[in-house]
Formats: sequence, structure tokens, C-alpha cells
Amino acid sequence: MYPAKFDFHAPNSIEEVLSLLSEYGDDAKVLAGGHSLLPMMKMRFATPQHLIDLNRIDRLRGISQDGDTIVIGAMTTEKQIIASDVLAMHCPLLPEAAKQIADPQVRNRGTIGGDICHGDPANDQPAVTMAADATYVLQGPKGERSVHSSEFFLGSFYTAMEADEIMTSIRVPAAAGSSGSAYVKLKRKTGDWATAAAAVQLTLDGDRCSSVRIALTNVGATAIRVAAAEDALSGQVVDEALIDAAAQHAMDACDPTEDLRGDVEYKTKMAGEMTRRAIRQSLARARGQ
Ligand SMILES: Cc1cc2nc3c(=O)[nH]c(=O)nc-3n(C[C@H](O)[C@H](O)[C@H](O)COP(=O)(O)OP(=O)(O)OC[C@H]3O[C@@H](n4cnc5c(N)ncnc54)[C@H](O)[C@@H]3O)c2cc1C
Repeated sequence: MYPAKFDFHAPNSIEEVLSLLSEYGDDAKVLAGGHSLLPMMKMRFATPQHLIDLNRIDRLRGISQDGDTIVIGAMTTEKQIIASDVLAMHCPLLPEAAKQIADPQVRNRGTIGGDICHGDPANDQPAVTMAADATYVLQGPKGERSVHSSEFFLGSFYTAMEADEIMTSIRVPAAAGSSGSAYVKLKRKTGDWATAAAAVQLTLDGDRCSSVRIALTNVGATAIRVAAAEDALSGQVVDEALIDAAAQHAMDACDPTEDLRGDVEYKTKMAGEMTRRAIRQSLARARGQ
């Protein structure tokens, strides 16, 4: 199918993008890698009259370190995330998850900002960046503001970003001390979205879990942060009984819909199992095993 007719804009600066967004309002959409937006346009679920391409703005790309924080430009591709030495060293959760997104063609073009801004609960980066304690930096006509990942997703395809704003970067604290992380994703085949997936980032203080963040993919209207599961592990010497308790909290937090990937009961059980595996793997990594 062909998309509806649109005008194409290729600005060279963020200021130009914001001015075009102010001019065209809800009739405009920004284009990143195009791997979610263009299929939506071809199916006529999205019919923007103006497409504003972000690909010429170099400031939106790249991965750098700012003290204890890793700064990832919104237009950085999944392929660049996988190849990043900075992320491998300071936030290995992101490259591990990016390797599980779609296929090489999609990862070559698809961006982390696009994956998040699309607001699709099936996308991986929302839960992954939530577990990584990320903050999203947005820029609009009134200037810049930061929204924590746990507060960004308001519903399916619905986020806290205004129509006249863009995401410029994602800021992630560098993992410190004895920390470990894992993204465990059940999918029917390579290239598919998750049936259920769990992202875990934890830190140990001796034998005890001093901090932990747990988030789930594709088992609700948005990515789900499971505070009750985190509370079950925080401050504890984590054993199998506590891991089971955390997995139960993850299942309680799920609200999946039935589709070709499975029914509600199956997806809920799989969210629990992915949580169990991600916690075990994170613990082993934090212990250097
Ligand atoms: C076959 C296939 C399989 C896939 N499997 C997976 C998967 O397993 N896991 C997964 O996570 N994803 C998957 N995807 C989606 C893919 O990762 C997309 O690339 C991603 O969802 C969107 O990123 P993009 O850069 O392509 O954004 P685009 O498609 O260009 O844009 C998506 C939306 O975000 C908005 N947007 C983009 N960038 C910005 C920005 N900087 N500021 C404000 N708004 C912005 C656009 O206006 C649009 O509304 C798959 C896609 C395909 C085609």
C-alpha cells in the first residue's frame, strides 16, 4: 500500500524542526528510522501532511559520557548501541536488549528515540530504559525539559511528549559497584516483538541487593515497572523464594491482551518466568559469575 500524500521537510537544525512543528502542529510528524512510522503511514493509520526528517541533524546522534551519566542521542541507531564500547562498559543492559530487537535491517535504521517515542508497548526500549533508570530529554518551543522513563508512558501509543516537542537524548546513569543486568525476551522467532520480556538492573552490597529496577515488555498498555517486585528484593539476600515472590508480583502487574502470541494466562506466566530468569542472570553477573 502507498501512504497518503505528504510534504517532506529536511531541516538541518533542531531549531528548524521546532519551527516546522510549531507551524504545522498536529498535521506534522517527525521521521527517524521510519521502521514504525512508515508502516503506519502505508496502512493509513497515520496520515501526516508534513513529514519532518531528523536524519540531517548530527547533534541528535552519538553516545558520550557526562560524568556518571551516559548520554545517548535520540537518533542513535540500535546498531550503534550494540557497537558502543561506552555502553558495553557502563550500561550493558542496553546493547544486550538492542541485539534482541527485530532484525539487522531494522537495527541499522531504527533509532532508540523512535523506539521510545512511538509509545508501542511491544517495543523493547521503553522497559529496558526504565530498568536502566533513564531520563528522557525533550525539547520544545518553551525550551528543554526532562521526563523520567517511569513517568513518560501514559497509554498505548500515548506519551508525555507534546506534539510540538522532540526527544533529543536519553540519559542513563552508569552502572556502579557490584551491579548486574539482564534482558530476557521470549519471542516466537527472530524479528518478532516480545511475547513477554523482563528487564532487570540490580546492585549488590556484599550479599544483599541494595537497589533493583524491574520492568516488563508487551504485557500491558505500556511498559510496566514492577515496584512490588523491586520491594520484595531490596535490602535482602536474594534466594529462590524471593525470586519466586518477585515473579509473582510481576504476574500480578501484567494486563496482557490475547493475540497470535498467546492468551492472557500464557503471557502472564511467561512474564513471571522472564522475570525469574532476568533476576537470576543479573545476580550471577553482579557476583562476577
Ligand atoms: C519487522 C519489524 C520488527 C520489529 N521488531 C521490533 C522489536 O522486536 N522490538 C522493538 O523494540 N521494535 C521493533 N520494531 C520497531 C523498530 O524498532 C522501530 O525502528 C522503532 O519502533 C521506531 O524507531 P524509528 O527510528 O524507526 O522511528 P520512526 O518509525 O521514524 O518513528 C516512530 C515514531 O516516533 C516518533 N519519533 C521518532 N523519533 C523521534 C524523536 N527524536 N522525537 C520525537 N518523536 C520521534 C515519530 O514521529 C513516530 O511517531 C520492529 C519493526 C519492524 C519493521
